[in-house]
Amino acid sequence: MDLKALIRPSIAAMKPYSSARDEFQSQDNNLVFLDANESPFQNDLNRYPDPQQILLKTKLATLKQVLPDQILLGNGSDEVLDLLFRAFCEPNQDAVLTLTPTYGIYGVLANLNAIENQAVTLNSKFQIKIDDVLKAIHPNTKMIFICSPNNPSGNLLDTKAIEGILEAFGGLVVIDEAYIDFTDSKSWIERLSEFPNLVVTQTLSKAYGLAGIRLGICYASTDIISVLNKIKPPYNINLLTQNAAFEGISNQENTKKQIDMILSEREKLIQNLNNLSFVKTIFPSDANFILIRVDDANMRYTQLIAKGIIVRNRHGQPLCDHCLRITVGTPEENLKLIQALQTI
Ligand SMILES: *Cc1c(COP(=O)(O)O)cnc(C)c1O
Repeated sequence: MDLKALIRPSIAAMKPYSSARDEFQSQDNNLVFLDANESPFQNDLNRYPDPQQILLKTKLATLKQVLPDQILLGNGSDEVLDLLFRAFCEPNQDAVLTLTPTYGIYGVLANLNAIENQAVTLNSKFQIKIDDVLKAIHPNTKMIFICSPNNPSGNLLDTKAIEGILEAFGGLVVIDEAYIDFTDSKSWIERLSEFPNLVVTQTLSKAYGLAGIRLGICYASTDIISVLNKIKPPYNINLLTQNAAFEGISNQENTKKQIDMILSEREKLIQNLNNLSFVKTIFPSDANFILIRVDDANMRYTQLIAKGIIVRNRHGQPLCDHCLRITVGTPEENLKLIQALQTI
């Protein structure tokens, strides 16, 4: 892969903004900071946050066995993905390839950035049709988005197919691992040194229970990360988020306990769903949600709302005729769901 050729020319040429905190970083309390026009009155939030999030990245780097310079943090995965578009895709010229049905944000970001979205459908088992993908790639295809485990289908995508794409494709392969913590599968982070075109995104929004703080994480080569660093908003991760994220990833035991609970609840839910006559298919899940096919998705969706239960209606998405996506909740919530399903 020729990274220089992938970067948008205007991005390669631009000089990044250098913030006051970029130019002078110190933990020394005796220094007098009069460089950023902040308020001098201490309230724990009067100073700008660390633009490079060194403490948090160092902690993540240890946890994931990468260098801090292989990490970029974003205001949710959404910002990370948007930065990838803006760094590597020239508006009205380039394209990205997505594997539908999948996470809707990739297509929205393509639209927002005036980038063609080449949607290639998965097969009926929601796996990659490798030949279709390789055939669809054209010289302006810059990135391929692979969501594994995939949303909304819930399954991990086949390793061999992903390896095939990584080897054959000269652009970036972005693997979205938002749900990786719910699987025993190894993260693609472990293979970053093997594939220079690999980009892995993760988030604290799912297994870590911190959707409210908005923290998305991008792991890639130091070269790719330095391009993204150059264009990110200087203070994109606020201080409250940096602190809460640090706390959150420090408490692995709590996260592990909650994951185990979700997984055992998921199995219970599947057993109960199996006993409902209008549930036609329960798709295998490697995530904290289950995709089911019912007799009439719009009707069942509306009936559940009337019972105060909101699920995600995926009817209308490719391969998702009459499908509902159900997030695994607490034992009490799941019981309410099952009771509601038994009465409708
Ligand atoms: C939920 C989800 C995310 C998380 O996005 P954030 O912006 O980090 O909250 C990312 N990718 C997929 C596929 C998701 O389902």
